[in-house]
Amino acid sequence: MAAPETPGAADARLVLAVPAPVVALLDRLHAGGHAAYVVGGSLRDALLGREPNDWDMATDARPDRIVALFPGSVYENRFGTVAVRQDEDVFEITTFRTEHDYADFRRPHRVEFGDDVVADLARRDFTVNAIAWGRAGRDDGTGAPNALVDPFDGIADLAARRLRAVGDPDARFREDALRMVRAVRLAASLAFDIEPATLAAIRANAGLVRHLSGERVGAELARLLAAPMPSVGLRLALDTGLLAVISPELAQQRGIQQNKILGEDLWDHTLRTVDAVPADRPVVRLAALLHDIGKPATLADGRFHHHDIVGAQQAETLLRTLRYPRATTDEVVHLIRHHMFVVDREATDAAVRRFIRRIGRDWIGPLFELRRADDIGSGMAPDDPDQVAFRARIDAELAARVPLDRNALAIDGGDLMRELGLQPGPRLGGVLEALVDQVIADPVLNDRATLMLLAQGMLADMLPDEGER
Ligand code: ATP
Ligand code: MG
Repeated sequence: MAAPETPGAADARLVLAVPAPVVALLDRLHAGGHAAYVVGGSLRDALLGREPNDWDMATDARPDRIVALFPGSVYENRFGTVAVRQDEDVFEITTFRTEHDYADFRRPHRVEFGDDVVADLARRDFTVNAIAWGRAGRDDGTGAPNALVDPFDGIADLAARRLRAVGDPDARFREDALRMVRAVRLAASLAFDIEPATLAAIRANAGLVRHLSGERVGAELARLLAAPMPSVGLRLALDTGLLAVISPELAQQRGIQQNKILGEDLWDHTLRTVDAVPADRPVVRLAALLHDIGKPATLADGRFHHHDIVGAQQAETLLRTLRYPRATTDEVVHLIRHHMFVVDREATDAAVRRFIRRIGRDWIGPLFELRRADDIGSGMAPDDPDQVAFRARIDAELAARVPLDRNALAIDGGDLMRELGLQPGPRLGGVLEALVDQVIADPVLNDRATLMLLAQGMLADMLPDEGER
């Protein structure tokens, strides 16, 4: 379905394959008299031979004109982006823009529609993101085939695997400080270097990141953590001073010694741990990044007392600031809180079941994934036999479907109310929890008659709730 096109003499290694539906959309815009191009990250990825996330197109057609050319399309936002359906897929077509009035080191306050592809490319962040492929409308009389437009030598930087700011890097980072975070993120996701002048400008302007919304920074962090080796970007973030603004606690890990890998510090350990988590486990990767965030603050006499508890709190604050979804934050905080769990060879079966209950059955897998990465990050061989054995015992308990919570009891609150005259309230809840404890200790107790007897015995020792006889 791809229509391969070669970009010309600039670099013979780069071969461009644009899918037929995308070419069809460009053709319709061209036939309508408009300039239209594939642009941005999608073109960059295609030239690198990577599968683009999405195909972005830019045109001189104004949004209402795009909507008129493509019946059923939807004008999405004030930035001029129209979503167009083609061959079962939805593509975004954006009117050329020029940007003005940058203030507060954030994104522009005013965008203007433009007529010129080069002006649209000039507002983009890095040369490799500022290439276009397409042509002007038929009105210009050229009738030329689609071709690359590369006013900032992005192709050469692509071939050299190098990120270079479009224009003066200092000025561009002061316009929008997020571009610095994007630079370290893209360095990791593409495995590119940052060229020296661009890198120097990041060092010089890193402090401006404090003006950004947590949401924008958080989105780039999430993309960074999806890179094959997040450590590439994280290391750059620390070395340039970006990390000290985003998370001072993490940046303080640099230089803190711990007896793990000879000559490496706590920050090195964090980076190794993050890289050791598979890329398709984003929540565990985030937990890996933050698992020892509490260590700098708790360091005393060469120990990190309660760093799991302190770290869980610090991670929660950071992830709220970065506007991570509530569910992700809760998961990460829970994993950090429990990441120091002890693997006990002597544990009784009841202790194994209490462990499952404390962690929650859904978190056993992620917690062991985190521990495995933590071990690798500590220079230890993964899959320590005691750990593997402990995990096997947990899995065996889960496979045996042992009762672990109220829902698994052979009686419920309704039974206790009917047969023992209990009212809904704290006493009822207390009895049910106590029964769960007993059944976890000894699953054999989980039958109606036994539980009823146990409950009666407990009630004899309890004061009634207010309103109960
Ligand atoms: P990815 O492939 O991970 O999506 P991307 O480069 O496509 O990376 P997007 O956020 O999708 O990143 O942005 C699309 C394009 O918009 C970029 O390639 C770049 O040309 C431009 N762009 C995005 N953010 C900025 C910015 N802050 N300043 C200037 N140009 C930007
Ligand atoms: Mg993109």
